Amino acid sequence: MPAMPERAGSPSPAPPLLTTLKGVGPKLAERLHRLGLRTVEDVLLHLPLRYQDRTRVIPIGQLRPGEEAQIEAEITRAEVTTRGRRFLLCHLSDGAGALTLRFFHFSPAQEQLFGQPGARLRCFGEVRSGYTGGLEMIHPECRRIDPDSPPVTDRLTPVYPTTAGLQQFTLRGLAEQALALLDTATLLPELLPQALRARLHLMSIAEAVRGLHQPPADTALAELDSGRHPARRRLAFEELLAHQLSLRRLRARVRRQAAPPLAGEGGLSGRFMERLPFTLTGAQRRVLAEIGTDLAQPRPMLRLLQGDVGSGKTVVAAAAALRAVETGAQAALMAPTELLAEQHYRNFRDWLEPLGVEVAWLTGRLTGRARRTLLERLASSAVHVAVGTHALFQDAVVFAELALAIVDEQHRFGVHQRLALREKGQRGGRCPHQLIMTATPIPRTLAMSAYADLDTSIIDELPPGRRPVKTVVVPDSRRDEVSARIRQACRAGRQAYWVCPLIDESEALQCQAAVVTAEQLTALLPELRVGLVHGRLPAAAKEAVMAAFKAGALDLLVATTVIEVGVDVPNASLMIIENAERLGLAQLHQLRGRVGRGTMESSCVLLYRPPLSQVAHARLGVLRQCHDGFEIARRDLELRGPGEVLGTRQTGEQTLRIADLLRDQDLLNAVRHTADELLRDHPETVEPLIRRWIGGGARYGEV
Ligand code: ADP
Ligand code: MG
Repeated sequence: MPAMPERAGSPSPAPPLLTTLKGVGPKLAERLHRLGLRTVEDVLLHLPLRYQDRTRVIPIGQLRPGEEAQIEAEITRAEVTTRGRRFLLCHLSDGAGALTLRFFHFSPAQEQLFGQPGARLRCFGEVRSGYTGGLEMIHPECRRIDPDSPPVTDRLTPVYPTTAGLQQFTLRGLAEQALALLDTATLLPELLPQALRARLHLMSIAEAVRGLHQPPADTALAELDSGRHPARRRLAFEELLAHQLSLRRLRARVRRQAAPPLAGEGGLSGRFMERLPFTLTGAQRRVLAEIGTDLAQPRPMLRLLQGDVGSGKTVVAAAAALRAVETGAQAALMAPTELLAEQHYRNFRDWLEPLGVEVAWLTGRLTGRARRTLLERLASSAVHVAVGTHALFQDAVVFAELALAIVDEQHRFGVHQRLALREKGQRGGRCPHQLIMTATPIPRTLAMSAYADLDTSIIDELPPGRRPVKTVVVPDSRRDEVSARIRQACRAGRQAYWVCPLIDESEALQCQAAVVTAEQLTALLPELRVGLVHGRLPAAAKEAVMAAFKAGALDLLVATTVIEVGVDVPNASLMIIENAERLGLAQLHQLRGRVGRGTMESSCVLLYRPPLSQVAHARLGVLRQCHDGFEIARRDLELRGPGEVLGTRQTGEQTLRIADLLRDQDLLNAVRHTADELLRDHPETVEPLIRRWIGGGARYGEV
């Protein structure tokens, strides 16, 4: 890891650690860490999931089953039943109505408390209809009250996200302590300038935090629960702003570095184009020109290349790589899986070696002599283009002069990996150009916030002759019909995929195992050559199967979603996807993109297991009608949220704590403008904002 530039002297002291709160020892601190809480500020920013209304006492006669409510009543009688399961029943009356408390676990102290007829209790819990027809509460929170007891609270009671062994009352107590410290100016200082807050109608951070932890009784619960409450939006705004600033700062730092200008005379690229069996589409030429302009600059390119499945991003990547090679430098292409890396390697080798360009392949599997030799060749410039998995950015890998780093299907990689590759080529203050390609189109607002460090190029045109993949939605009871379809396609000399979402029956609840499916299909279609590929096969076996399929030596390939991205076998014209109702739209679209890559008619059968809910039906319907990846991504975003669309769920990358890119989309424009303004007029706020929200854990935003 290269040395990091010195941080400017921090304008605000670090927020106090959790252990400064009363009652927090090492054990509790450990549990709180599990929730991501390390400082007192973190406690304040750990917002309730929902609220309970304990501001009112409801007469028993007005209770409705299913509601959470607070009651006050007198004990009339208690009993411990020992028939069957042992439990404690405590009968209560508030004069007008009766209710029973039921406990399956109880302490001697509780037994004693409830065994006092005439004692008054205040209870909070969910009301349900009891076994005998009356109303019940199971394991309510109870306390004994007398005439001197404090009145009910005038605040809504927060319910926090928690973890095993951490009780709500502990979290509530900590939040209370932290809120009391809010008045001491050093905790959670206001970082947004007053004028800006006034203009955007943003309350102060202290007011927002207080309002969310201890909302007054008259706060609209619906607004709180939907996340649209102004206090929550105030925090969401600041969080989005911090992320925006961190990416922008990252960009600024990278752009300040020098990069090798790649402006060769273009001979290699020219010959490459001439030899291609097709001509580039207008969109491919346009993005290549955009990339070319960037590469010619003495500053690192930071560009995101978006394009629908099958729009031809790989060839653009290869042409870009040649720009580096033409000036005597190197390029690297990183793919998220071995399968893809292997395929890119073959493509690049077939395209580039006839031009005298040395292409090498590096994966984690390469060991011993072969690996050492390859590393030497990379370090000595004998290899011009390296293709591989993330093995490319291990420490031992040194490039002689890496001028361009290309990352394919980037959403599988986290921002951190993106940074690591960027650092790879950093030598003597020089930084490689970077091109990121996404497999799945990303809706514009989302791209502008999640990739604020990148410029964007879009291939918005498919190669000519492509026909939309005919998509049908079929219950899996009609498998026979489906196998007849496969037989027909293969007889016509085509090939087919059969995709099963999970590998192994043990981990599958309903998903059919690829292994079993392959056996069944082999039995069912004895005349076909059936292959099987899944993530747990040894890499060599995987490759052998893929190569056989590509060469036409297999008719039907049964696979898990390992073939989701990038796999390119133009002769395949039929795809069956099992348990389609379990996959996201963008993922289905991506899978479907494995067919329809040639000019022949292709189809995709989405098999589902009935019954299919209305929503699921509508979701699959989107795929039947829609063939535009951007549109599908937009719908997917609505249906499943940004974590899935951006792939942050898969990479486990730090996600937003309070904001929600979908719900808070309408803030994103203001966030971007505010970021400009702060960078220009209040640069001193940038570092503390990033530190507050992104923290020391993430190197996100630092280079
Ligand atoms: P993706 O953008 O999904 O990565 P690929 O780069 O794998 O797409 O390209 C899909 C297929 O289209 C490949 O077989 C590729 O060779 C082919 N292709 C790319 N560009 C063109 C073009 N301009 N005309 C015809 N076929 C093309
Ligand atoms: Mg691709």
